[in-house]
Amino acid sequence: MEYKYNAIVLNKIDTGETDRVYVVYTREAGRILARAIGVKKPNAKLAGNLESITQCEIFLAKGKGRGNVTGVIGVENFLAIKANIFALEKVFTALKIFNRLMTQEEKDEKTFQLLLDYLLVMDKSAKEENDLKFDIYTLGFIFKLLQNLGYKQEVKKCSACAGKLVSGENYFSAQRGGIICPACAKLETRKIRITDEAVKFIRIVLENKIENLGKIKLEKKSLDNLKVVAQEAVRWIAN
Ligand SMILES: [Zn+2]
Repeated sequence: MEYKYNAIVLNKIDTGETDRVYVVYTREAGRILARAIGVKKPNAKLAGNLESITQCEIFLAKGKGRGNVTGVIGVENFLAIKANIFALEKVFTALKIFNRLMTQEEKDEKTFQLLLDYLLVMDKSAKEENDLKFDIYTLGFIFKLLQNLGYKQEVKKCSACAGKLVSGENYFSAQRGGIICPACAKLETRKIRITDEAVKFIRIVLENKIENLGKIKLEKKSLDNLKVVAQEAVRWIAN
């Protein structure tokens, strides 16, 4: 049987002298592995459309286990991302996190769309040489991805005592799944001080589409703060 998938290529693994296994995220089945036989031969036609960070239609002949690639049609190459080292660096970080969290072959159209939308806004910003937006979109992508996976961070009330959050001094606890108030923070061994601006950013992210986040401006302090918070949340969930 031959199957067609709408896919985004995440990664490739060399498996032999001429073959490769591609890790792709598909609209139809989530994360799947696709084996491309002879793809490393000099005249192989498949390789160009199977570069990492490429959207394509991929045809797989499937028996048991992983399928063999029989054809690929390129849809979007995201050339602006690939030409901008800063954009590329952010996208690689995002895909690394994506790979850590998305380990199952499981259909999740919302997450496929989120990944596609993220790459589209990054590509657009790279075209416009709007480097300041790369961090905003990448952080937005990570928090929205966690939300899709059922780890929506609590940012409206204290995630330990459910009390009202007062601006000025708050903390993030990955284990509690969100912001905690200073009183609860005293009882928590693992926590990160979080700026008011960073809390507000997560609130906006969770209520808006990724393409609408471009207008947000963050101070460097909050940006660095959010990177640590996102890393901590991912680390806790992926373990
Ligand atoms: Zn509390």
